This record gives sequence, C-alpha cells and structure tokens, in this order.
Amino acid sequence: MKKLYSSALAYLITIMITPAFAATPPAVPAKISYTVSFPEAQAHYAEVEMNITGLAQPTLEVKMPVWAPGSYLVREFAKNIESLSANTRGKELPVTKINKNTWKMNMTGVSSVTVKYKVYAFELSVRTSFIDASHAFLSSTGIFLYPKGMISQPSTVHIKPYKDWNKVSTSLEMVNGDVFTRTAPNYDILYDSPLEIGTQDVFDFDVDGTHYEVAMYGGGNYDKERLKVDMAKVIRAEVNVFGENPNKHYTFIVHNKQRNGGGLEHLSSTVLGASRDQYGTPGGYRGFLSLVAHEHFHLWNVKRLRPIALGPFDYDNENYTTNLWIAEGFTAYYQNMILRYAGISSPQDYLNDMAGDINTVENQPGTKVQPLAESSFDAWIKGYRPNENSYNTGISYYDKGAIVGMLLDLEIINNSNTKYSLNDVMKYMYDTYYKGKKRGYTDAEFKAGFEKFAGEKLDDFYAKYINGLAPIDYNKYLNYAGYKLTDEFADNNEPSLGVFTNSRKIITTVLRGGAGWVDGLNVNDELTAIDDTPVTEMGSILKGKKIGDKVNVTVTRDGQRIIIPVTLKRNDAVKYSITELPDANAKQLDVRKKWLHL
Ligand SMILES: [Zn+2]
Repeated sequence: MKKLYSSALAYLITIMITPAFAATPPAVPAKISYTVSFPEAQAHYAEVEMNITGLAQPTLEVKMPVWAPGSYLVREFAKNIESLSANTRGKELPVTKINKNTWKMNMTGVSSVTVKYKVYAFELSVRTSFIDASHAFLSSTGIFLYPKGMISQPSTVHIKPYKDWNKVSTSLEMVNGDVFTRTAPNYDILYDSPLEIGTQDVFDFDVDGTHYEVAMYGGGNYDKERLKVDMAKVIRAEVNVFGENPNKHYTFIVHNKQRNGGGLEHLSSTVLGASRDQYGTPGGYRGFLSLVAHEHFHLWNVKRLRPIALGPFDYDNENYTTNLWIAEGFTAYYQNMILRYAGISSPQDYLNDMAGDINTVENQPGTKVQPLAESSFDAWIKGYRPNENSYNTGISYYDKGAIVGMLLDLEIINNSNTKYSLNDVMKYMYDTYYKGKKRGYTDAEFKAGFEKFAGEKLDDFYAKYINGLAPIDYNKYLNYAGYKLTDEFADNNEPSLGVFTNSRKIITTVLRGGAGWVDGLNVNDELTAIDDTPVTEMGSILKGKKIGDKVNVTVTRDGQRIIIPVTLKRNDAVKYSITELPDANAKQLDVRKKWLHL
C-alpha cells in the first residue's frame, strides 16, 4: 500500500475499519525523547529511558543499528543491551524480541510508551561506547534505539550525569541553554553525533565564523594555545579546498590514553584517539595534526560528498561501495597534503610521508591480489576483519587510495599546465553532487569529474589501478614534477626466510612467495634454531648465509619440535624515497610548485 492519505480523518477511519492496513506511518508525528542516566557508571552501564508519545499504530518496533557509519563492520550493538522492558502509563507492556536487533510491542489502545534498557559500555574506541566513573563516551549508534519507520523524526536527549560530571561535548544542539538537554532533527544526525560526558578539559576557538570546541579527555602534554593556532591553520587550508565551511559549530572529542590513535568522522564533530605524551615530540605533534586534518577533511569528503551507497544509511545491513578509495584514500592523501598547504609540514616532510605510503603498498604481497575497488567493497569482511593472511591477500584502500590521489593530482596538474589540481575535482564534485543534486555520486560520475579536469579519458587508468592489478608506474607521474623514486634496497643481496615474527620469535606472517611460504613455515611457529644455532635474536639469525642456501629451521609447532628444510630466497623488501631529478625543466618546476604549494 503506497497511497498517502490526504487527511488525518481518512487515516483514522482506515485504522478503525481495516486494522490490517494500519501499519502506515502515523499522520501526526510521534514525540520521542530519551533520558540517559549512569547510576552504575563505575560498572560501565548507562540506563536509557525512551519515551514516545502520540502513537497511533497497532504495533511498534524499536531497533538498534548494527553498525556505526564510517566504520565498515557489522558490530551488533544490540549485544550490549539488557533488561529491556516497556510500560505505558505505569502499566507493563509485553515486548517480544523478533530478531537480533528488534523488539516489538502490541500498541492496540496505547498511544504512549516508555522503553527502558541498560547498555553495557566498556570498549573505548572511536566507534564504540565506554563508561566508567571518570566519563561516558556515548557512540550514539550503540546507545539509542529507534522506532522503526520514524528515522526522519526529531528526538531530544536528556542526560543525568554521574556524580561530579559537569560537561557535555557534542555537536547536538542544546535545548533552552541546558547543556544536559540536546536535540537532533532526525536519527541520521542523532547517530552521527557522539557525546562525551564528564569533566573533560574543553577549549575553543573560531575560524572565520565557525566555532570550534575541543574536548580533551584523559590529560596529556598538549599546549592548548599552540593547538588552537595550528588546528586553525589546518581547518583554513581545508576550507580553501572546498570553498566553504558548511558547519557553524564543530566539536573535536579527543581521547588521550597511554597508547591510542585513530579517529572517526561525523557531520559536525569527530572523535580522535591520541597518546598522552605524543604532543611533546615533533613527529607526535605532527601526527596529531595529521589526524585532525584527516577527520576534519571528512566533513566534506564522505559526510557530505559521498558515495551513493553511503546515505541514507541502512542501519540493519552492510552498505556496500567500491569508492572508499576516494572517501578514505583521498582523505589519507589530503591529511598529509593539508599540513603542507598549512605550512606545518615541509616539502621534504610531505615527500617522506608519501614515500612511506608507497613502501607500505609495495612491500605488501596483497597489492598483487586485491584490486582497489574490491578492497573497498569487501571492507566489511576483509579490511575490518583482518587475519594472519591479510597481508598476502589484500591492500588497504587508505594506503593505495592515497597513492592514486597523488597520481591523479599530478596528472591533472600536468595535463592542465598547472591550471587545475585534484582540489578542483573535489570542489566540483562537492558543488555538483552534495550541493546541487543533493545526493551521493556514482563511480562513473566521479570518474567523469576527474576526466573533466584531466582533459582526457581515464579508462586505462581505472583498468590498471582501480579495477586491476597493474604495477604502478610511479616515475611517470613523479616525473611531471621533476621527481623520481629511488630504492635504497635495490642492490640488496640479503637472504630471507620470508616471515615476520614478534618479540617472542613467533611467526606472525608468512610472506606470499617467500622462502617460508614455499617450504612450509607457518604462522604461530616459534623459531628455535637455524641449523645448529639457537635463535636468540631475530636480527642475526641468517648471519653468514647466502641466497639459495638450504637451512634446517627448527620450530615449535603446537607443542612439538619440527625441523623444516628451507631454501633461502632474496629479501625482496623495497625502501623507496622520492628524490629530485637533477635537470628538471621549467614545466616540471611549475608542476612541483603547484603540487606542493611552494
Ligand atoms: Zn577516514
């Protein structure tokens, strides 16, 4: 039944006469509010009360998303819910669980309901919730149930803080100036707005009319005044790419831990992981700003300019796209480039960062197995579910996507005689699809965007580097800017077992095609001796051996001692750096200037 009823009266009559059809959404929007309290914060629980009034439907289903947008893995957030019950005006309402993340109630004669449940939260990551006596980080997709069919409806969230908690950091708007009462115009925004609640250290600054708030949890050796200046530089450099900042307010939530990293993007906020002491070293500090640049760049690239599959979201299932190499890979490309634009990285810093990406990709056997588009599509089952063989079977759409970003940037700058760059493609796509057509882009549409500014067809490029497995011709592109790749290991004649081990000499990876792969060393084997020499330190175990030598490798496998003859092969690792061509011509220098913002 698709017809929309023209009046509330017709709708009511329909309900009365034909209840079987009454599953149509109610004509008058229901009112939805949540109260979240933490009577047992120390034991990692939130208690949620969801109130819905104004209902006029025979049944109600409430659901929990199975994933958090931006993190492409089904995480089954409903697994953390317990003691769910419902009542109406104080009277218990029976609830039936009908699948892993859906609870159903009979609403005959009932117009309001309160659903109560507890959520266990003890996983501090950027995409999961964590509660203890010191703070609550609420990742909304794992906290708030939604009423089926009402995803576009507004809701309010009232927070009852634990003990001395006195701050809420979130991009959700306040209601009546009350920091503990927030509102979301629809569920896509509620689910895109994490909340940090506690006694966090908050500082703020403005960048050209947009207000930025930074909420620091966990302490650390950061200098607020220095961060304000440098974060503003990063933000300005990004606004310059897209030509506008669509937010009036933006919130950075930073979790400082002994060792932490990573981030998750949202529409008007982000959650970052940092190590408490990382702000004190040049590399650590630049690493933090690079993470800021990455997640903030996403507010355009993926949160607004997005692959068509990524919104409106299906919160029940995987949302497949072949374009994470643009959404994530290009964001990874820009996270370093933006620091260059902002003057925080030197040109050499930038070239070193890019050489690092190239080494990561070129040393990974999986780069010869999994095309970039497939890496994106299978993020749900491969990228986010790595195993001991992933290094051999896959490639990261971040690392290779960043490289493709560089290739296309150089191609466009060179072909257009420095008139355009990848920045023009990003802005054009943002203007055309997010602002103009108000939808995501298809694969073909983004390709057409590249072609428009490159002034050529890119079928061959896509066949080789996006959908295929051709070795990347780095020097063709670097040459445009008067650079080339140099491999420091090119003349290396070291023999190798072709395995990686941990500090306990246990094999963690067997490299595809290497000596260990060919002769049968396994992950989890503990290396104990090479010929008659006990393995004490991994660095020197092949001292005096040559490529082609046959050695007896003694390992402990499943508690048993086994001797495996292995024929040593050449260590094929590469170590590239990007170096200047000595005789770069005027055009190459122009391309370089445009590319690196010299
Ligand atoms: Zn990202």
